[in-house]
Amino acid sequence: MLNLNSNIQYIKGVGEKRAELFHKLGIYDVDSLLHFYPRKYEDWTSTKSVKDAENGESVAIRATMISPVKEAMIRRGMTLYKCKFTDGENIINVTIFNNKYLAKALRVYEDYVLFGKLEKNFTTASMSSPKIEKLDTGVSIHPIYPQTGKLTSNGIAKVMKTALEAIDEIPETLDYDIRAKYGLISLDSAIRKIHFPENADDSEAARKRLIFEELLTLQLGLLKLKGSGKKEKTNVNIRDDFSAEFASRLPYTLTNAQQKAIAECVSDMKKDVPMSRLLQGDVGSGKTAVAASLIYTAVKNGYQAALMAPTEILATQHFESFSKMFEGTGIKIELLTGSTKAAEKKRIKLALMDGETDLVIGTHAIIQNDVEFADLALVITDEQHRFGVKQRASLAAKGQGLHTLVMSATPIPRTLGLIIYGDLDISILDELPPGRQEIRTDVVDSTFNGRIYKFIKDAVARGEQCYIICPLVEDSEEIEELKSAEQLAEELSNGAFSGYNLGLLHGKMKAKDKDNVMKAFADGDVSILVATTVVEVGVDVPNATIMLVENAERFGLSQLHQLRGRIGRGDKKSYCILISDTESETSKNRLMIMKKYSDGFKIADEDLKARGPGDFFGERQHGLPRLRIADMLEDIDVLRQAQDCAREILAEDFNLDLPKNKPLCDQINNMFRELTY
Ligand code: ADP
Ligand code: MG
Repeated sequence: MLNLNSNIQYIKGVGEKRAELFHKLGIYDVDSLLHFYPRKYEDWTSTKSVKDAENGESVAIRATMISPVKEAMIRRGMTLYKCKFTDGENIINVTIFNNKYLAKALRVYEDYVLFGKLEKNFTTASMSSPKIEKLDTGVSIHPIYPQTGKLTSNGIAKVMKTALEAIDEIPETLDYDIRAKYGLISLDSAIRKIHFPENADDSEAARKRLIFEELLTLQLGLLKLKGSGKKEKTNVNIRDDFSAEFASRLPYTLTNAQQKAIAECVSDMKKDVPMSRLLQGDVGSGKTAVAASLIYTAVKNGYQAALMAPTEILATQHFESFSKMFEGTGIKIELLTGSTKAAEKKRIKLALMDGETDLVIGTHAIIQNDVEFADLALVITDEQHRFGVKQRASLAAKGQGLHTLVMSATPIPRTLGLIIYGDLDISILDELPPGRQEIRTDVVDSTFNGRIYKFIKDAVARGEQCYIICPLVEDSEEIEELKSAEQLAEELSNGAFSGYNLGLLHGKMKAKDKDNVMKAFADGDVSILVATTVVEVGVDVPNATIMLVENAERFGLSQLHQLRGRIGRGDKKSYCILISDTESETSKNRLMIMKKYSDGFKIADEDLKARGPGDFFGERQHGLPRLRIADMLEDIDVLRQAQDCAREILAEDFNLDLPKNKPLCDQINNMFRELTY
């Protein structure tokens, strides 16, 4: 007798050797085997006769074998088997390549189902290497599993069947009330039906149950991780909305999207539970003005606010633009970063504690550590597009009772947003301020290098600046990345651009050195910045008009979009040049999406479609567990239900202490155990 914990090798027909093949698929015990789901199904239930089938059609045919197998060696290691079948009217000539096991098992006058492509002409019908099964087991829906090497889909299916026959009823993980409310079948029948459905309704019901459970587990885990799902009341009391007053001070009119986002945030801030909102907006959509408006309202209500940026230089830029925007308002602003002198730091901290300072702008680390506030009401975090789940958790813990807004330029598709930021409300800036210059994007191969370098030199001669992005190397090869960036910078400064002011920026540099290089570029002391993708976090250099990306096919489209957002920020015409020598049509088409679209959301959707969520998550490092059955794009309705359900469960039993929630609790631990941040 088997149970869920039984080792895979004890399933009849597996053994030690084949167990190793299963291990490669991450399958060690019966439980993990049962959760290895089919990729798709082949429907062998509607069989056809030769007469009714089209030439070239993939069909299932019921047929009797009428001649014994003849064997012919074509060449060493390649044997051909031939035999004849009939469907009662027509003869089908079947050839089987190399599959001795199958050929020896076939018996004359027995009934089979043949599944494969039927070739027909006037006189004969034939099938080459069809799948063949005995009639009694063959006429069914066949699961197709992802296979590796020697382990075929069919082999997996056989083992699956044996295991399912050998185990007792699979213990239920979801409470009866939940199953009733969301219309879910039991886990036992879901598992049995996902592998061997009798019809389409079966597999549909099984999928729904398993997807729901997977997304519910994910949501519960995320909500618990963030310590939210249960909101504390806030003591902050924002009574009046000053956003109109703020808008009237701006030299431009806010876009409709900006106005809507501001209204949504202010309405949140007036409530007695803290705001937790995500402001998503493409590069250049004007997130800063939204932030400024909210800060203005908070301060005018007598409170303090904090604005956090991921780098010193960004914090400094924000400090400068806020100082300008708030000129003449009496709002007192301080800049607090790692390089603020000790005495100055002390003064700033005191002023914050006394409530003398209204707004502090700085890097995360500083604000998260030991700064105390007199009346902090609002914390805004900028450019969090590399935000991991864990970082979010620590911010949430810090922000007990505070209004928080996270601003992100990552145009993640909505479904993913719902998963990743499941506990946040979302405002979207889907409109750019008027009068923006379109960036011209071109995809070329490296034979254009000479011309491109000349183009860059002309731009530099006009006093403009340029980014050159180094080829991307795998994450695991950090040293390679460093080498490639340094190498490219050296090659260029000794070659095409000797005599030019080149700067080098890569991820392995100390924060301080990075900031210095970035500052030199922002100040115009460096004309050409050779960099890795670290520059994608948004510093404003309006004078930079060219973005050149080497080996562009190695980048994700969203990443290219992010990089492209570094240019076109001033009034000069800007150019994005993607260099790629790829031969692959798919890669070329992907890059053409960049030429075609300028909308980050559109690009993100296309990117996700082209590469699948696995890659999307991998590269983005959102730190989410891998999903086995749910599809990030397709299953949005189930996702919504799972989110509702997760909130209900946590509202009743936040620690999942109740016995009925124990199985879910175990599953969460399982799913999140493999998480690396
Ligand atoms: P991001 O969303 O990338 O942070 P910013 O807030 O830096 O974008 O805004 C980009 C530029 O657009 C800034 O120079 C800002 O002054 C300008 N801007 C913002 N909103 C408007 C608007 N409604 N009309 C015109 N210009 C705007
Ligand atoms: Mg910004």
